[in-house]
Amino acid sequence: MADIHIIGGGLAGCEAAWQAAERGVSVRLHEMRPRRFSPAHESEDLAELVCSNSLRSNDPGSAVGLLKEEMRRLSSLLMRVADETSVPAGKALAVDRRKFAARVTEAVTAHPRIHLVREEVTELPGPADNRPVILATGPLTSPAMTASLTALTGSDNLAFYDAIAPIIDAASLDMGIIFRRSRWDDGPGDYLNCPMTGEQYRLFIRELAGADRVPLRDFEQPRYFEGCLPIEVMLERGEQTLLFGPMKPVGLVDPRTGATPFAVVQLRAENREMTMYNMVGFQTKLTYAEQKRVFRLIPGLERAEFVRLGSIHRNTFVCAPRVLRPSLQTKENPRLFLAGQLSGVEGYVESTAMGLLAGINAARLAREQEVVVPPAETAHGALVRHLTGSEPDRFQPSNINFGLFPALGRKMRKRDRGTYRAALALKSLAAWLENL
Ligand SMILES: Cc1cc2nc3c(=O)[nH]c(=O)nc-3n(C[C@H](O)[C@H](O)[C@H](O)COP(=O)(O)OP(=O)(O)OC[C@H]3O[C@@H](n4cnc5c(N)ncnc54)[C@H](O)[C@@H]3O)c2cc1C
Repeated sequence: MADIHIIGGGLAGCEAAWQAAERGVSVRLHEMRPRRFSPAHESEDLAELVCSNSLRSNDPGSAVGLLKEEMRRLSSLLMRVADETSVPAGKALAVDRRKFAARVTEAVTAHPRIHLVREEVTELPGPADNRPVILATGPLTSPAMTASLTALTGSDNLAFYDAIAPIIDAASLDMGIIFRRSRWDDGPGDYLNCPMTGEQYRLFIRELAGADRVPLRDFEQPRYFEGCLPIEVMLERGEQTLLFGPMKPVGLVDPRTGATPFAVVQLRAENREMTMYNMVGFQTKLTYAEQKRVFRLIPGLERAEFVRLGSIHRNTFVCAPRVLRPSLQTKENPRLFLAGQLSGVEGYVESTAMGLLAGINAARLAREQEVVVPPAETAHGALVRHLTGSEPDRFQPSNINFGLFPALGRKMRKRDRGTYRAALALKSLAAWLENL
């Protein structure tokens, strides 16, 4: 009988299985393919990359490069295979996707302590089963498992679409143009406002209407919720629509002119340190290049550095701040761990990293050891902090970025910041690893 069960043989599930098995624990890994396929998966192999073959930057001075470096130091199977199957891609780590998935499948199935079962699991384990379980069924979790998960978390804490608005580095905002004020408020307020004249608004909507969009996949037929329509879809309803929606200026007086602008784009702090700002109501399906071009037409955002760009796609994920503990155990049932995209992170590398942590902790729980949480200065710690320390009502999945890390507490040139953070993180990780 296996010590732990892992449901889902994707990126997170395979990494979790490897980490647990390498710690001497026996694993039963359940994967529904090839009996049943998600709408995006095409092969029978484990750890299939469903879209791009890029794991993004490999530079440890970038946040995602640092996350990968930490994973290597935590003996990640998927990072090892990614390095072995890499293809030339400049500063990025891209892989030959077929070789990548094939080698992960080979390594997982050859491990003496991992037993792979090709079956769909339709229900979470009941109270009688006290073995740790990791649920890593991904953004396209099968419908039956989704129903079982909804019963555990409550429907309010499970989402099926991401509607992500871009996030901007605060240091790149032009505060000579932007003013701070909340609607109907005379004080400084919580929002930053980019004021627009009528002419600037008309130019902006013309460019927005003509900008390139990411095509929808078959299973992504737009079923937008009214509350999170893409900005360009809202514009299709009429040239004035945005003036009554996310760009409405009422109640906002620009202290520099003493007048209400024709239109306003509002920015809301994304973190407590106010180093990142979210473009309120600007969820979008524009391509990344077009987002940068069109949104930089907004006064005050001419030199905006985007920490994250907007997107809308099918994605099953929990409201992590309500559902998860920092160990990735669910609050409701400490034997149940969530990993991968389902836990509320975004991206191949981030999903794998959450599999790695869940694997370590499920193995520790099976061996009656205390669960662990990575230090806050590390990229792993920053992701966990985003999952469990974010404001629940506004929680959205996130890629790793330096804005999720604790504030540095001192001024530094931008190009030095990444290197400094990486050195700090890797030192802290080494000390943590020694204790483990
Ligand atoms: C269409 C699409 C494109 C994406 N493109 C990118 C991209 O280009 N770059 C990027 O960084 N991220 C991308 N992502 C986001 C994310 O990084 C990937 O989805 C990533 O694979 C998530 O890893 P995971 O382990 O959480 O889930 P997955 O890798 O999807 O693994 C989940 C596994 O669970 C299995 N499964 C599901 N339900 C059950 C069940 N009930 N029982 C047993 N097995 C089950 C599935 O078959 C699958 O193998 C994309 C997501 C989607 C949906």
